[in-house]
Amino acid sequence: MTSPIRYSQSPIELPLDGWLLEGEPVPGCKVCGALDGQRSQARKRNDWAAACTAAREIRSHGNSRSRSQGHGDAS
Ligand SMILES: [Zn+2]
Repeated sequence: MTSPIRYSQSPIELPLDGWLLEGEPVPGCKVCGALDGQRSQARKRNDWAAACTAAREIRSHGNSRSRSQGHGDAS
């Protein structure tokens, strides 16, 4: 029998836990939006390092409510 399954590239090993790719971008935040876009594109090209980095930035940005981090009213 022929198997429809084919691997065009070596299997992707997730180096990290799934939650490391998670992160909620803050609505209306350009930085979070940009990071979310980077994460999506990184995942599409299986660039997990970049995806994890973007996700971490999103979490960091979302968690930091201090004025020095860009969320909230900076003016
Ligand atoms: Zn943000």
